[in-house]
Order: sequence, then structure tokens, then C-alpha cells
Amino acid sequence: MREIVALTDRALRQAGVEGVLPTPLEGVAQVVEIGEVVDIAEMPTNLVVKRPSLLKRVLGAILLPERTIFVDGTLSDARLRFTTGHEIGHRLLPWHEAAYFLDDESTLSLDAREQLEAEASAVSAHLIFQGPRRFMEFALGYQVGIKAALLAAAAHRSSAHSAIRYYVENHPDPVAVLVAGRFLDDGGAVPIWGSLESPSFSTKYGSLGKRFPEQRLEVLDGGGRPFGDIMHASLAEIASKPLLIRDLASVPQQFVAEAFFNGFCHFVLVSERQARRLGRRVRLLAEAG
Ligand SMILES: [Zn+2]
Repeated sequence: MREIVALTDRALRQAGVEGVLPTPLEGVAQVVEIGEVVDIAEMPTNLVVKRPSLLKRVLGAILLPERTIFVDGTLSDARLRFTTGHEIGHRLLPWHEAAYFLDDESTLSLDAREQLEAEASAVSAHLIFQGPRRFMEFALGYQVGIKAALLAAAAHRSSAHSAIRYYVENHPDPVAVLVAGRFLDDGGAVPIWGSLESPSFSTKYGSLGKRFPEQRLEVLDGGGRPFGDIMHASLAEIASKPLLIRDLASVPQQFVAEAFFNGFCHFVLVSERQARRLGRRVRLLAEAG
């Protein structure tokens, strides 16, 4: 990971785009000697026959001799950027060249390519978010919470989902997020797909996701046990409420939970109340007002 970070930082530096938001990925592509970024619909037919299958949608590919990147032009802006960054990653990491060059959705399965795929995606996140230090400098300018992550998504032209993940993973304070599906089961609950914790949350509280052994969140019980009320309200707008979370010594600590729905999945972000200080920008605005 250290080597990946060093190579990615060097590419940002060489492209002269350190701290430039949103990251101009074309400049980085030039630095790693990618000739062109082309819509996958323009992919040469002799390459198209090598596509794995119609069921596995190709999101991006890199054609090594011509140094051309192909990305699916029908993707949303955020996914297009992430895919472009991912393909740059395959080009940037010298040990990737020999491996393969055609990407498809089998990247999500557990196979021999998993490691390389994760590395290319780590490069993409680093390029788009400009690394954890610069990203958190930006995000900590706002009050701790889900809105800071969403503002960061807009500024970095990323998806809300990846910005929320990056925010939690790199946050200095105890914050954690649950990602849940949108379809209710018979019991009026949605499945928990995953949880992420900041390092300080993990140290003090352990895993948030493991506190839900059934891996589901009740939405329709009306009593809000524990997030149903704010999850239901978040279908209209971000909703929040105070709650207590016991630390690993079983001492209840004050938290704020916020629910956000992006149209595909639910996010419930919890942050320690004392960490929810005002950010620099908010404070300056308040002082100016
Ligand atoms: Zn890939």
C-alpha cells in the first residue's frame, strides 16, 4: 500500500494537479502515457470478441500497445471518473502490465484478480480524493457528519457512496457507517451490506456492523429501534437523532446518527457527539455573520 500511495502521489505531482479539485484525470492519464480515453462503444471489434460474456458488463479496459483506455460512456459521471482512475491504476502500477487488460464485473468475485483490482481501485480513490490528508483537510472544514462527506463528493466529482466510505475510513474521530439495501424483507427490515469504522471508532467501540448479528435494520417498526425512524424520514431528506453507543468498556457515550438515502442504498452514519465540532468554514461563516 505504501508503494501504491507513493506512485500515485508522484503521478499527481508530475501532472501538476496536486490539490486541484476536481482532479483533472486527463492530466494524470498523460503522465502515465495513456494516449486516449475512448468510449468503449468505439472498442475495436477484434477486442470486442474477447469480452468475457454479455452477462459480465465491461466497465473499462486498457489496450496496452496503443496505450488507449476504454471506458463505458453510459456510466454516470462519478462512475466514469472512478473507472478512468481505476484503468490509470492498472497502467501506473508497474506490476500490473503483465497481468491482464480487460476488466469486467467479475472483479467483484473472489478470484485471483481480486488483489490487482483492489489496488487499481485504491489508486482511483487516491487520485479522485487527492489522498487522505488533503481529503480530510477539505472535509474537516465542515461540521462532522454526512453532509461533509456529500459536500466532498460534489467537490471531488465522486459518488456519494465512495466519498462516504473514504470519509469514514480516514476520519480522525470516532465515526462509523452502515450501508444497507433498499428492499424490505417480510419483517419490514433492509439487509445490512457492510459497515465501516474510522480507526479511532474501532479502537474504542469495535465493529458497528457486528452489533447487528442478524445483518438487518428494521425500518417499519415505527419505534426507531435503532434507526427505523430516521431511515424512513431519510427517504425525503437527511434525518438525524441523538443516541447512546456503549464503548468496549460498556460505558454509554453520546452519539449522533444520521440517515441518508442515495436512491440505491441507505447509509447510517454515527459520530461521537463531542467530535461534532464546527468545521473551519462553518465557524468562519458564523464569526463573519
Ligand atoms: Zn481492473
